[in-house]
Amino acid sequence: MDDVHRIEIPTPFDVGRVNCYAFVADGLSLLDPGPATEAAYAELSAGLNDLGFTVADVEQVLITHPHMDHFGIAARVIKESGGRAVAHRDAMRPLAEPLDHFDREQAFFRPFLQSMGVPEQVAETAVTLPEAYTDYQEPLAVDYEVRDGDSVDVGVDLTAVHSPGHAPGSVCFVPETAPVAFTGDHVLQHISPNPLLTVAPGTEDERTRSLPDYLDSLERLRAADADTGYGGHGERIEDLDVRIGDIIDHHRQREERIANLIGELGPVTAYDLMQELFPDLPATEVFPGMSEVIGHLDLLEDENRVEIIEEEAIRKYALR
Ligand SMILES: [Zn+2]
Ligand SMILES: [Zn+2]
Repeated sequence: MDDVHRIEIPTPFDVGRVNCYAFVADGLSLLDPGPATEAAYAELSAGLNDLGFTVADVEQVLITHPHMDHFGIAARVIKESGGRAVAHRDAMRPLAEPLDHFDREQAFFRPFLQSMGVPEQVAETAVTLPEAYTDYQEPLAVDYEVRDGDSVDVGVDLTAVHSPGHAPGSVCFVPETAPVAFTGDHVLQHISPNPLLTVAPGTEDERTRSLPDYLDSLERLRAADADTGYGGHGERIEDLDVRIGDIIDHHRQREERIANLIGELGPVTAYDLMQELFPDLPATEVFPGMSEVIGHLDLLEDENRVEIIEEEAIRKYALR
């Protein structure tokens, strides 16, 4: 892929820089331009200048998933260039109304976390903390929605592979001309992507089953037969198939570890399991930690290996 360039955009988040990909074969298209900060805008502009373009030249902005480190600045780019925004249909609502989406998440997960054994104060902190980050995004109206299998012309045709799990409306893009995939945060070289729980697209009061979805999405990406991955953070993934296999193995091992813990501890809440697995987790990691544990409990439930016991609005898990 000679006509694609990576621009590493700074973010204010622990994850570090985010990879923006610029496609220059026919006009200028960007994949994941970065968060809404002045630093990101300055480095995006400089990166485009190096390629002989300015922000005003952008014809379209593709978004892999509705997380602010990837899409936050897209509305500004589009305002300046008049280009179009492209994303999966399940990402449209969180992109267009990120604050409403955040309110929905808070309203749903506050009682939900408590039903999973999280103490009230800890649940409150876990759902309130992300508020600090909501400044790094601007609402983005999507002009062109894609579904699994649709293609987007960026000089070459990119085929969208729907890959929910890390986020709703996540898509990978696979060019028809080269055995590579642009993977967003679905697969990364050095980070094991977190299948975060979220309110299910199109609902107010249902959650996603993020880890089962995520593992299905890995198989869907694997079937696209790409050799090399270009992720949303870090270096490229030299052997995508090996990396996908490693991630699946990691989750299967953790699933067995959690099954063993349930066997030892008897009827047990997801929160108790999280504390066993990750003692002394800082408040910022409680939501990702609970997402991880509940994801594995969902797998065990799907495999009919656990029994769910509801007692006084608290849910406990026991082995069958
Ligand atoms: Zn993400
Ligand atoms: Zn990210």
